[in-house]
Amino acid sequence: MKFNTKVIHAGVHPDASTGAIMTPIYQTSTYVQDEIGVHKGFEYSRTGNPTRQALENNLAAIEGGKYGACFGSGLAAIDAIVKMLNPGDEVISTNDLYGGSYRIFTTIFEKYGIKFHFVNMLDIQNIEEKINDKTKLIWTETPTNPMLNIIDIKKVCDLAHENNIMVGVDNTFATPYLQNPLALGADVVMHSVTKYLGGHSDVIMGALVTNDDKIAEEIYRIQNSSGAVCGPMDSFLVLRGIKTLHLRMQRHCENGEKIAHFLNNHPLIDTVYWPGLKSHSNHEVAKSQMKDFGGMISFNLVGDDLEMAKRVVSKTELFTLAESLGGVESLIGHPSTMTHASIPREERMKSGVVDSLIRLSVGIEDIEDLISDLKNALMV
Ligand SMILES: *Cc1c(COP(=O)(O)O)cnc(C)c1O
Repeated sequence: MKFNTKVIHAGVHPDASTGAIMTPIYQTSTYVQDEIGVHKGFEYSRTGNPTRQALENNLAAIEGGKYGACFGSGLAAIDAIVKMLNPGDEVISTNDLYGGSYRIFTTIFEKYGIKFHFVNMLDIQNIEEKINDKTKLIWTETPTNPMLNIIDIKKVCDLAHENNIMVGVDNTFATPYLQNPLALGADVVMHSVTKYLGGHSDVIMGALVTNDDKIAEEIYRIQNSSGAVCGPMDSFLVLRGIKTLHLRMQRHCENGEKIAHFLNNHPLIDTVYWPGLKSHSNHEVAKSQMKDFGGMISFNLVGDDLEMAKRVVSKTELFTLAESLGGVESLIGHPSTMTHASIPREERMKSGVVDSLIRLSVGIEDIEDLISDLKNALMV
Protein backbone atom coordinates (compact mmCIF):
# COMPACT_ATOMS: atom_id res chain seq x y z
CA MET A 1 0.00 0.00 0.00
CA LYS A 2 1.12 3.55 -0.76
CA PHE A 3 1.11 6.24 1.94
CA ASN A 4 -2.15 7.92 0.87
CA THR A 5 -3.94 4.56 1.06
CA LYS A 6 -2.32 3.52 4.33
CA VAL A 7 -3.53 6.60 6.22
CA ILE A 8 -7.08 5.49 5.47
CA HIS A 9 -6.90 1.68 5.53
CA ALA A 10 -3.85 0.45 7.49
CA GLY A 11 -4.64 -1.22 10.80
CA VAL A 12 -8.40 -0.73 10.61
CA HIS A 13 -11.10 -3.20 9.60
CA PRO A 14 -14.89 -3.01 9.47
CA ASP A 15 -16.31 -4.22 12.78
CA ALA A 16 -16.94 -7.98 12.46
CA SER A 17 -20.03 -8.07 14.67
CA THR A 18 -21.99 -5.12 13.15
CA GLY A 19 -20.32 -4.17 9.88
CA ALA A 20 -19.58 -0.66 11.18
CA ILE A 21 -17.03 0.71 8.72
CA MET A 22 -15.38 2.92 11.36
CA THR A 23 -13.42 1.40 14.24
CA PRO A 24 -15.76 1.59 17.26
CA ILE A 25 -14.78 3.46 20.42
CA TYR A 26 -14.33 0.52 22.77
CA GLN A 27 -15.05 2.49 25.93
CA THR A 28 -14.35 -0.37 28.30
CA SER A 29 -11.80 -1.10 30.99
CA THR A 30 -12.09 -4.89 30.97
CA TYR A 31 -13.16 -7.86 28.82
CA VAL A 32 -15.22 -10.93 29.66
CA GLN A 33 -13.31 -14.22 29.75
CA ASP A 34 -15.12 -17.42 28.68
CA GLU A 35 -12.98 -19.42 31.06
CA ILE A 36 -9.88 -18.58 33.06
CA GLY A 37 -7.35 -17.38 30.49
CA VAL A 38 -9.71 -17.82 27.52
CA HIS A 39 -10.42 -14.44 25.93
CA LYS A 40 -10.48 -12.70 22.57
CA GLY A 41 -7.04 -11.10 22.87
CA PHE A 42 -7.93 -8.34 25.33
CA GLU A 43 -7.93 -8.59 29.13
CA TYR A 44 -7.61 -5.07 30.52
CA SER A 45 -7.48 -1.72 28.68
CA ARG A 46 -4.18 -0.50 30.16
CA THR A 47 -2.56 -3.52 28.53
CA GLY A 48 -4.56 -3.35 25.31
CA ASN A 49 -7.71 -1.79 23.89
CA PRO A 50 -9.07 -2.49 20.38
CA THR A 51 -9.49 1.20 19.41
CA ARG A 52 -6.00 2.03 20.63
CA GLN A 53 -4.60 -1.06 18.93
CA ALA A 54 -6.13 -0.06 15.58
CA LEU A 55 -4.44 3.34 15.92
CA GLU A 56 -1.13 1.79 16.97
CA ASN A 57 -1.18 -0.48 13.91
CA ASN A 58 -2.10 2.42 11.65
CA LEU A 59 0.70 4.62 13.02
CA ALA A 60 3.23 1.81 12.67
CA ALA A 61 2.20 1.34 9.03
CA ILE A 62 2.39 5.00 8.03
CA GLU A 63 5.77 5.43 9.74
CA GLY A 64 7.13 2.32 7.99
CA GLY A 65 7.50 0.31 11.21
CA LYS A 66 6.31 -3.03 12.57
CA TYR A 67 5.26 -1.89 16.04
CA GLY A 68 3.37 1.16 17.32
CA ALA A 69 2.57 2.16 20.88
CA CYS A 70 0.41 5.11 21.96
CA PHE A 71 0.70 7.14 25.16
CA GLY A 72 -1.19 9.82 27.03
CA SER A 73 1.07 12.56 25.61
CA GLY A 74 4.23 13.05 23.56
CA LEU A 75 6.18 13.46 26.77
CA ALA A 76 4.80 10.18 28.12
CA ALA A 77 6.19 8.52 24.97
CA ILE A 78 9.63 10.07 25.62
CA ASP A 79 9.34 9.01 29.27
CA ALA A 80 8.88 5.39 28.11
CA ILE A 81 12.02 5.50 25.95
CA VAL A 82 14.24 6.86 28.70
CA LYS A 83 12.88 4.20 31.08
CA MET A 84 14.60 1.61 28.88
CA LEU A 85 17.90 2.93 30.28
CA ASN A 86 19.64 2.23 33.60
CA PRO A 87 21.36 4.46 36.17
CA GLY A 88 24.86 5.27 34.91
CA ASP A 89 23.81 5.25 31.25
CA GLU A 90 24.44 8.33 29.14
CA VAL A 91 22.32 10.05 26.51
CA ILE A 92 23.50 12.45 23.83
CA SER A 93 20.70 14.80 22.87
CA THR A 94 20.47 17.68 20.44
CA ASN A 95 20.70 21.06 22.19
CA ASP A 96 18.04 22.46 19.88
CA LEU A 97 15.29 20.54 21.61
CA TYR A 98 11.59 20.81 22.45
CA GLY A 99 11.54 22.49 25.88
CA GLY A 100 9.45 19.76 27.50
CA SER A 101 11.93 17.12 26.37
CA TYR A 102 14.76 19.10 27.94
CA ARG A 103 12.72 19.41 31.14
CA ILE A 104 11.93 15.70 31.49
CA PHE A 105 15.57 14.76 30.82
CA THR A 106 17.07 17.23 33.29
CA THR A 107 14.47 17.47 36.07
CA ILE A 108 13.12 13.90 36.09
CA PHE A 109 15.73 11.47 34.77
CA GLU A 110 18.99 13.10 35.85
CA LYS A 111 18.10 12.41 39.49
CA TYR A 112 17.79 8.70 38.65
CA GLY A 113 21.43 8.69 37.59
CA ILE A 114 21.10 9.05 33.82
CA LYS A 115 23.47 11.59 32.34
CA PHE A 116 22.50 13.86 29.43
CA HIS A 117 24.81 15.71 27.07
CA PHE A 118 23.25 18.44 24.92
CA VAL A 119 25.23 19.11 21.75
CA ASN A 120 24.79 20.96 18.48
CA MET A 121 24.04 18.10 16.08
CA LEU A 122 24.44 20.20 12.93
CA ASP A 123 28.07 19.15 13.31
CA ILE A 124 28.31 15.35 13.76
CA GLN A 125 31.70 15.71 15.39
CA ASN A 126 30.05 17.24 18.45
CA ILE A 127 28.24 13.92 18.95
CA GLU A 128 31.36 11.86 18.36
CA GLU A 129 33.21 13.74 21.09
CA LYS A 130 30.65 12.72 23.73
CA ILE A 131 30.41 9.01 22.85
CA ASN A 132 31.81 6.59 25.41
CA ASP A 133 31.07 3.06 26.74
CA LYS A 134 28.12 4.34 28.74
CA THR A 135 26.35 6.04 25.83
CA LYS A 136 23.11 4.13 25.24
CA LEU A 137 20.86 6.59 23.42
CA ILE A 138 21.21 9.39 20.90
CA TRP A 139 18.12 11.58 20.90
CA THR A 140 17.45 13.93 18.05
CA GLU A 141 14.70 16.12 16.67
CA THR A 142 14.42 17.59 13.17
CA PRO A 143 13.26 20.07 11.97
CA THR A 144 13.93 21.80 15.28
CA ASN A 145 11.78 24.24 17.17
CA PRO A 146 11.69 27.19 16.64
CA MET A 147 14.75 27.66 14.39
CA LEU A 148 13.79 24.96 11.85
CA ASN A 149 17.30 23.58 11.77
CA ILE A 150 17.70 20.31 9.89
CA ILE A 151 19.82 17.54 11.39
CA ASP A 152 21.15 14.84 9.05
CA ILE A 153 19.36 11.74 10.41
CA LYS A 154 21.30 9.21 8.36
CA LYS A 155 24.67 10.61 9.44
CA VAL A 156 23.62 10.51 13.11
CA CYS A 157 22.39 6.91 12.75
CA ASP A 158 25.52 5.70 10.96
CA LEU A 159 27.72 7.11 13.72
CA ALA A 160 25.48 5.69 16.46
CA HIS A 161 25.37 2.21 14.96
CA GLU A 162 29.16 2.04 14.55
CA ASN A 163 29.10 2.40 18.34
CA ASN A 164 26.08 0.17 19.10
CA ILE A 165 23.96 3.06 20.32
CA MET A 166 20.19 3.31 19.91
CA VAL A 167 18.86 6.34 18.00
CA GLY A 168 15.51 7.96 18.75
CA VAL A 169 14.06 10.66 16.50
CA ASP A 170 11.29 13.07 17.49
CA ASN A 171 9.47 13.28 14.14
CA THR A 172 6.67 15.58 15.35
CA PHE A 173 7.40 18.55 13.07
CA ALA A 174 7.85 16.51 9.89
CA THR A 175 5.18 13.81 10.37
CA PRO A 176 5.45 10.46 8.56
CA TYR A 177 4.19 12.22 5.41
CA LEU A 178 7.37 14.28 5.07
CA GLN A 179 10.04 12.13 6.68
CA ASN A 180 10.52 8.49 7.77
CA PRO A 181 13.44 8.25 10.21
CA LEU A 182 13.24 4.43 10.43
CA ALA A 183 14.09 4.24 6.72
CA LEU A 184 17.10 6.50 7.40
CA GLY A 185 18.35 4.14 10.13
CA ALA A 186 16.62 5.31 13.32
CA ASP A 187 15.73 2.62 15.88
CA VAL A 188 12.68 4.33 17.29
CA VAL A 189 10.53 7.25 16.18
CA MET A 190 8.53 9.41 18.54
CA HIS A 191 5.54 11.66 17.78
CA SER A 192 3.64 14.24 19.70
CA VAL A 193 0.39 13.01 18.12
CA THR A 194 -1.13 16.16 19.62
CA LYS A 195 0.21 18.12 16.65
CA TYR A 196 -0.16 17.18 12.94
CA LEU A 197 -1.24 13.54 13.40
CA GLY A 198 -4.30 14.49 15.45
CA GLY A 199 -4.35 17.62 13.33
CA HIS A 200 -7.41 19.29 14.82
CA SER A 201 -6.09 20.68 18.14
CA ASP A 202 -8.46 18.49 20.15
CA VAL A 203 -6.27 15.70 21.59
CA ILE A 204 -3.10 15.29 23.69
CA MET A 205 -1.31 12.07 22.73
CA GLY A 206 2.09 10.57 21.99
CA ALA A 207 3.37 7.57 20.06
CA LEU A 208 6.44 5.42 19.48
CA VAL A 209 7.14 3.33 16.38
CA THR A 210 9.92 0.80 15.86
CA ASN A 211 10.93 -2.16 13.69
CA ASP A 212 13.10 -3.74 16.37
CA ASP A 213 11.54 -6.73 18.17
CA LYS A 214 13.55 -6.18 21.38
CA ILE A 215 12.86 -2.45 21.57
CA ALA A 216 9.16 -3.12 20.93
CA GLU A 217 9.04 -5.68 23.73
CA GLU A 218 10.54 -3.12 26.12
CA ILE A 219 8.19 -0.37 24.95
CA TYR A 220 5.10 -2.54 25.52
CA ARG A 221 6.41 -3.68 28.90
CA ILE A 222 6.92 -0.07 29.98
CA GLN A 223 3.63 1.09 28.43
CA ASN A 224 1.79 -1.51 30.51
CA SER A 225 3.94 -1.18 33.65
CA SER A 226 4.05 2.62 33.87
CA GLY A 227 0.54 2.93 32.47
CA ALA A 228 0.67 6.27 30.65
CA VAL A 229 -1.78 5.09 27.99
CA CYS A 230 -4.30 7.09 25.96
CA GLY A 231 -8.04 6.47 26.00
CA PRO A 232 -10.27 4.92 23.31
CA MET A 233 -12.12 8.18 22.53
CA ASP A 234 -8.85 10.00 21.83
CA SER A 235 -7.63 7.02 19.78
CA PHE A 236 -10.78 7.27 17.65
CA LEU A 237 -10.29 11.02 17.11
CA VAL A 238 -6.70 10.49 15.99
CA LEU A 239 -7.64 7.61 13.66
CA ARG A 240 -10.12 10.04 12.12
CA GLY A 241 -7.51 12.81 11.94
CA ILE A 242 -4.92 10.62 10.23
CA LYS A 243 -7.32 9.76 7.39
CA THR A 244 -6.68 13.24 5.98
CA LEU A 245 -3.02 13.59 7.02
CA HIS A 246 -1.74 13.48 3.42
CA LEU A 247 -4.22 16.13 2.22
CA ARG A 248 -3.63 18.38 5.20
CA MET A 249 0.15 18.10 4.94
CA GLN A 250 0.06 18.85 1.23
CA ARG A 251 -1.84 22.07 1.94
CA HIS A 252 0.33 22.97 4.96
CA CYS A 253 3.34 22.69 2.64
CA GLU A 254 1.78 24.69 -0.21
CA ASN A 255 0.64 27.47 2.13
CA GLY A 256 3.98 27.32 3.96
CA GLU A 257 5.90 27.84 0.74
CA LYS A 258 3.82 30.85 -0.34
CA ILE A 259 4.05 32.48 3.07
CA ALA A 260 7.79 31.84 3.35
CA HIS A 261 8.31 33.63 0.03
CA PHE A 262 5.96 36.47 0.98
CA LEU A 263 7.86 37.02 4.24
CA ASN A 264 11.22 36.66 2.54
CA ASN A 265 10.36 39.62 0.28
CA HIS A 266 8.95 41.83 3.05
CA PRO A 267 11.06 44.93 3.87
CA LEU A 268 10.45 44.70 7.65
CA ILE A 269 11.70 41.13 7.88
CA ASP A 270 15.30 40.26 8.45
CA THR A 271 15.57 36.45 8.13
CA VAL A 272 13.01 33.77 7.31
CA TYR A 273 13.68 30.28 8.66
CA TRP A 274 11.95 27.70 6.47
CA PRO A 275 13.89 24.65 5.21
CA GLY A 276 12.44 24.99 1.70
CA LEU A 277 14.23 28.28 1.03
CA LYS A 278 17.46 27.93 -0.94
CA SER A 279 18.99 30.40 1.52
CA HIS A 280 18.28 28.04 4.46
CA SER A 281 21.61 26.75 5.76
CA ASN A 282 20.51 23.08 5.75
CA HIS A 283 18.34 23.23 2.62
CA GLU A 284 20.26 20.43 0.88
CA VAL A 285 19.92 18.03 3.83
CA ALA A 286 16.22 18.89 4.07
CA LYS A 287 15.83 18.12 0.36
CA SER A 288 17.51 14.76 0.77
CA GLN A 289 15.58 13.50 3.80
CA MET A 290 12.19 15.24 3.53
CA LYS A 291 9.52 14.95 0.86
CA ASP A 292 8.52 18.61 1.22
CA PHE A 293 9.20 21.36 3.74
CA GLY A 294 6.12 21.70 5.95
CA GLY A 295 4.15 24.60 7.35
CA MET A 296 6.33 25.68 10.28
CA ILE A 297 8.08 29.01 9.66
CA SER A 298 10.01 31.36 11.91
CA PHE A 299 11.21 34.89 11.12
CA ASN A 300 12.72 37.88 12.85
CA LEU A 301 12.35 41.60 12.24
CA VAL A 302 14.81 44.15 10.95
CA GLY A 303 16.36 45.85 14.01
CA ASP A 304 15.17 43.03 16.30
CA ASP A 305 12.51 45.28 17.84
CA LEU A 306 10.71 43.45 20.68
CA GLU A 307 7.80 45.91 20.88
CA MET A 308 7.19 45.66 17.15
CA ALA A 309 7.19 41.86 17.35
CA LYS A 310 4.62 42.04 20.14
CA ARG A 311 2.45 44.34 18.02
CA VAL A 312 2.65 41.96 15.04
CA VAL A 313 1.58 38.88 17.01
CA SER A 314 -1.29 40.76 18.61
CA LYS A 315 -2.49 42.30 15.31
CA THR A 316 -3.02 39.11 13.31
CA GLU A 317 -6.60 37.89 13.28
CA LEU A 318 -6.53 34.55 11.46
CA PHE A 319 -3.16 33.62 12.92
CA THR A 320 -4.26 33.11 16.52
CA LEU A 321 -1.81 33.75 19.34
CA ALA A 322 -1.27 30.36 20.99
CA GLU A 323 1.25 27.68 21.84
CA SER A 324 1.16 24.33 20.03
CA LEU A 325 1.12 23.70 16.28
CA GLY A 326 0.04 21.33 13.57
CA GLY A 327 -3.71 21.95 13.60
CA VAL A 328 -5.84 22.95 10.61
CA GLU A 329 -5.97 26.54 11.93
CA SER A 330 -3.03 28.93 11.68
CA LEU A 331 -1.25 29.93 14.88
CA ILE A 332 1.32 32.59 15.69
CA GLY A 333 3.72 32.57 18.61
CA HIS A 334 6.51 34.60 20.14
CA PRO A 335 9.12 32.09 21.37
CA SER A 336 11.22 34.45 23.54
CA THR A 337 8.25 35.32 25.77
CA MET A 338 6.21 32.13 25.33
CA THR A 339 7.67 28.67 24.64
CA HIS A 340 11.31 29.64 25.30
CA ALA A 341 10.82 32.17 28.10
CA SER A 342 12.51 29.91 30.65
CA ILE A 343 15.82 29.91 28.73
CA PRO A 344 18.21 32.72 29.79
CA ARG A 345 18.34 35.52 27.18
CA GLU A 346 22.06 35.03 26.42
CA GLU A 347 21.51 31.34 25.79
CA ARG A 348 18.51 31.73 23.53
CA MET A 349 20.10 34.61 21.57
CA LYS A 350 23.02 32.29 20.77
CA SER A 351 20.69 29.74 19.19
CA GLY A 352 18.85 32.40 17.16
CA VAL A 353 15.84 32.90 19.42
CA VAL A 354 16.17 36.70 19.35
CA ASP A 355 13.65 39.11 20.89
CA SER A 356 11.74 39.67 17.63
CA LEU A 357 11.58 36.03 16.53
CA ILE A 358 8.05 35.03 15.54
CA ARG A 359 6.92 31.46 14.81
CA LEU A 360 4.05 30.48 12.55
CA SER A 361 2.19 27.21 12.34
CA VAL A 362 0.65 27.74 8.93
CA GLY A 363 -2.79 26.14 8.71
CA ILE A 364 -4.84 25.01 5.74
CA GLU A 365 -7.06 28.09 5.30
CA ASP A 366 -7.20 30.02 2.03
CA ILE A 367 -3.74 31.34 1.22
CA GLU A 368 -4.98 34.80 0.14
CA ASP A 369 -6.66 35.33 3.50
CA LEU A 370 -3.54 34.18 5.35
CA ILE A 371 -1.22 36.46 3.42
CA SER A 372 -3.50 39.50 3.77
CA ASP A 373 -3.69 38.83 7.54
CA LEU A 374 0.11 38.90 7.77
CA LYS A 375 0.32 41.92 5.46
CA ASN A 376 -2.01 43.89 7.76
CA ALA A 377 -0.21 42.82 10.90
CA LEU A 378 3.12 43.90 9.43
CA MET A 379 1.89 47.46 8.78
CA VAL A 380 3.24 48.64 12.10
C1 LIG B 1 4.57 19.15 21.57
C2 LIG B 1 5.85 18.47 21.36
C3 LIG B 1 6.30 17.46 22.23
C4 LIG B 1 5.52 17.06 23.47
O1 LIG B 1 4.31 16.47 23.14
P1 LIG B 1 3.01 16.56 24.11
O2 LIG B 1 1.97 15.82 23.32
O3 LIG B 1 2.71 18.02 24.29
O4 LIG B 1 3.37 15.89 25.39
C5 LIG B 1 7.50 16.83 21.95
N1 LIG B 1 8.24 17.19 20.88
C6 LIG B 1 7.85 18.15 20.01
C7 LIG B 1 8.71 18.49 18.86
C8 LIG B 1 6.66 18.82 20.22
O5 LIG B 1 6.29 19.79 19.38
